[in-house]
Amino acid sequence: MKLERCAYCGDDTDLPFECSYCRDPFCAEHRLPEDHRCVRLTQIRASRFGERKVVRDGGRDRPSLLRRVFGRFKG
Ligand SMILES: [Zn+2]
Ligand SMILES: [Zn+2]
Repeated sequence: MKLERCAYCGDDTDLPFECSYCRDPFCAEHRLPEDHRCVRLTQIRASRFGERKVVRDGGRDRPSLLRRVFGRFKG
């Protein structure tokens, strides 16, 4: 019987979970990318959200939106 070791905590486990991203074996506790600080985690997140969140400096969109609405009635 071959024991694998969790690549994160080093615990021996007879039923290792292979991370589908970094291909390392992990115990049940650390099988999720978030739980073993997966090296691919940043790439996973990037693909999940598509793009970085844009930080808005609040209220900037409002005036231009109002202006657009009023502009409509101006003729
Ligand atoms: Zn572990
Ligand atoms: Zn991983």
